Amino acid sequence: MVGTAPRNTGMEGVRGGVGVTALLVAAARAIETHRHDSLAQDDYAEHFVRAAPASADWPVRIQQAPGGDANPLWGRFARYFGLRTRVFDDFLLKAAHTGGARQIVLLGAGLDSRAFRLDWPAGCVIFEVDQGDVLTFKHTVLDGLSARPRAARTTVPADLRGDWAGALADAGFDTRAPSVWLAEGLLFYLPAAAETRLIGTVDRLSTAGGALAYEVKLDKDLREYRDSPLYTATTHQIGIDLLNLFVHEPRPDSAAALEDMGWTTSVHTPFDFTSLHGRGPLPERNDALAGNRWVFAHRTRP
Ligand code: SAM
Repeated sequence: MVGTAPRNTGMEGVRGGVGVTALLVAAARAIETHRHDSLAQDDYAEHFVRAAPASADWPVRIQQAPGGDANPLWGRFARYFGLRTRVFDDFLLKAAHTGGARQIVLLGAGLDSRAFRLDWPAGCVIFEVDQGDVLTFKHTVLDGLSARPRAARTTVPADLRGDWAGALADAGFDTRAPSVWLAEGLLFYLPAAAETRLIGTVDRLSTAGGALAYEVKLDKDLREYRDSPLYTATTHQIGIDLLNLFVHEPRPDSAAALEDMGWTTSVHTPFDFTSLHGRGPLPERNDALAGNRWVFAHRTRP
């Protein structure tokens, strides 16, 4: 239920634990929005950042960040989130406009405002799954802005470490209708077994032609890059110790599992998309982004 998560689960909404990472991504999107060469526009992001006590004094424009673009957190890391937003925006819109998906499921939606800012075809329903407290905060901010979604929108409070399929069904998800799924910035916060279950659930609830995109980190990212400037700057500047929030277990090969289940997959580095768009992070030494992979999957099995 909304507002009842006990503190020792790390599920404290945007007040602490993993929920604060939703504010980090929102601040990055606010900064990206105001860039002259912006890759993604999110006019809601800044409002989330300003509304939460944890983030009220964070920068929302690159000019406000100490050191500007040279700041590892608000420069390079924020640009990473801007690129990621754009790439997954494009994936979801393509699945809806040309792939026929009419249900868009955002797993670990956080402060994602795609329901409000993207151009969805008629008849789409967007399901946003996250902790109840995060969704309540989001609702309060959007309500204050009188924001109107551009598709039907349903929020689904659930713990994605457990069995969330029932909550999605109760929210109106239809297993016979075509769907596209997104797990953006989520899976490394879940135990390995929960990731395996989540992938199996997406398969079970998808029809032929279903699409899924998600982000993972290779195990070596966690081992080799622990003193990467991205992690240390995030800890020192805003007190979020990402390495402490990640679940340190051998990760499943979910792309291989999907292939076994009859999906086709393609696995990319973020840098592939920096090349495509002509802007975004480039590889560097001791890089927390080196192990990030973006996976795009389509179910070909009938
Ligand atoms: N996808 C959003 C984006 O990119 O803006 C949010 C990403 S944020 C880094 C991670 C989100 O996952 C947070 O909103 C957090 O509350 C959610 N999350 C992490 N573990 C979760 C769990 N076990 N159950 C539900 N939500 C969870």
